[in-house]
Parts: sequence; structure tokens; C-alpha cells
Amino acid sequence: MSVPADTLAAMDVTAVSAPEPEPPGTGRIADLVAAYTPLSPLGKQQLRGNCPFCRSPMFRVRPRHNTFHCFSCGAGGDARMFAAKIGHQP
Ligand SMILES: [Zn+2]
Repeated sequence: MSVPADTLAAMDVTAVSAPEPEPPGTGRIADLVAAYTPLSPLGKQQLRGNCPFCRSPMFRVRPRHNTFHCFSCGAGGDARMFAAKIGHQP
């Protein structure tokens, strides 16, 4: 009346989660925005600066997400949208 312990050991699941591919343009947003307004670190994952559109200091950039957002004028998006909004045609 003994339960084979090997049965449980055989269920060792080696779930390999594939690393998410970096979205195209990762890291570009910071360089792109910095060309228009100075950015300074805010915490670990954000940069802050003056909004190049409305000059408000409520402008944030998240390099890891490749996004920007202004809490004042509501501008936001990814690097492509920033380039399009500011009129820079790559
Ligand atoms: Zn703004």
C-alpha cells in the first residue's frame, strides 16, 4: 500500500516562458524626446521633463515601455506618435 513517489517527481514541469521580444524602437523614445526637451530621471522607470508641446513640467517618458505621456495636455503614445506629433518625419 505505498504510493509511488516517482509519479510526482515525473510531473516536474519545466515551463519555459519565451522572453518577450523587445518592441521595435525600444530605447528610442528617450533619445528622441531628449532632442526636444531635457529629461531627468524620475524613479527607476520614468524620465521627466517639460512637455515639448505645452511646456508643462508634467511630461513623463517611460523608456521601458517606449511611451511618453503629458499629464497636462494629454499628449501620449509611443516613439512613432511622438515623432509624428512633433512634426519630425524620420
Ligand atoms: Zn503637454
